[in-house]
Amino acid sequence: MKKSEVFFTNMRCEFGDSLLHKLGRVLDKADLGSLGLDRKFVAIKLHFGEPGNLAFLRPNFSKTVVDKIKSFGGMPFLTDCGTLYVGRRTHALAHMEAAQENGYWPATTGCQVIIGDGLKGTDDVEVPIEGGKVLKTALIGRAIMDADAVFSLNHFKGHEMTGFGGAIKNLGMGSGSRAGKMAMHNDGKPVIDRELCLGCKTCAKYCAQSAISFKEKKAVIDENKCVGCGRCVGSCNYNAIGVEWDTVGDALNRKMAEYAKAVVQGRPSFHINVVNHVSPYCDCHNENDAAVIPDLGIFASLDPVAVDMASIEAVNQAMTLAGSIVDDRPGGGRDLFTRIHPGSNWRSQLEHAEKIGLGRMAHKLVTVK
Ligand code: SF4
Ligand code: SF4
Repeated sequence: MKKSEVFFTNMRCEFGDSLLHKLGRVLDKADLGSLGLDRKFVAIKLHFGEPGNLAFLRPNFSKTVVDKIKSFGGMPFLTDCGTLYVGRRTHALAHMEAAQENGYWPATTGCQVIIGDGLKGTDDVEVPIEGGKVLKTALIGRAIMDADAVFSLNHFKGHEMTGFGGAIKNLGMGSGSRAGKMAMHNDGKPVIDRELCLGCKTCAKYCAQSAISFKEKKAVIDENKCVGCGRCVGSCNYNAIGVEWDTVGDALNRKMAEYAKAVVQGRPSFHINVVNHVSPYCDCHNENDAAVIPDLGIFASLDPVAVDMASIEAVNQAMTLAGSIVDDRPGGGRDLFTRIHPGSNWRSQLEHAEKIGLGRMAHKLVTVK
């Protein structure tokens, strides 16, 4: 089987050079000109970081990518979709404030931020998944699907449910609208927190299935009518509608890989993993635990599966850092993310991604100085 090329540069920088210059050289080596970006809208999917978390990617990395896309005539924008859980990125206004608080401004990145799934996370497109084995369609943020090409710029780190988060997770989970995220996370229906519900009835207006009624001035969801679309979750300004996080491990990884396929299929895409401050948990946390390995460098590829595989192999070969969560997980061998998150299985993410044709795990590492 033909191996996908993964371009890599380490963290070393001589005087007069910089990691951003090195990222630029990685992009040059990868021949972005072959993607045909001239006068094309290019969505750069990334995670702006939950405020409080300091492990997220600095905006400087995106500026280098933006400038390179512009040099080929492309029209880039930075994008992410709203979250299901309560936090600072649940709707577009809060999400843009969070992005700005973390330094993502046009002046720092060279382009605009567009929240992919609109004000309340309801602006999505139902996309058929080519080769999908678990799902037939994916609900992807409209602005991301409207783009002509997709880049993923990913902070590579651990994740409590999926083992690790890299290109596949950023593309798949991150590009799903609220309803899409619910479809990946939960095979069931949202639930009402009666303590938080004020009985304002906003959610009922959003429910096309007439599944929400009121009892003792509190919302009640009829599970027989509810189709799990997730529209009501985004409509509640009081965080009274939530999701039971019951889909973990392999099922979640497979769905996420299928969502990533829906995002990249049929158009040019390119994927960059920055393997620095490898925290054990996702950047969705409003804190970040200590890094578990030293900073390694930047991996980039046309193939999102290969770039994740190359990154995880490098992580597993690295020494671990004393004083990190690894100290609390003695034993467990070289498979670092399984050691940190024993209930997770990162391999299922990559194996399923390969099975549905998202990319190949087999890769050839090309070092860029
Ligand atoms: S929108 Fe929220 S607060 Fe209002 S009725 Fe629905 S669940 Fe209750
Ligand atoms: S998930 Fe969709 S169908 Fe179910 S109650 Fe909410 S809006 Fe209605």
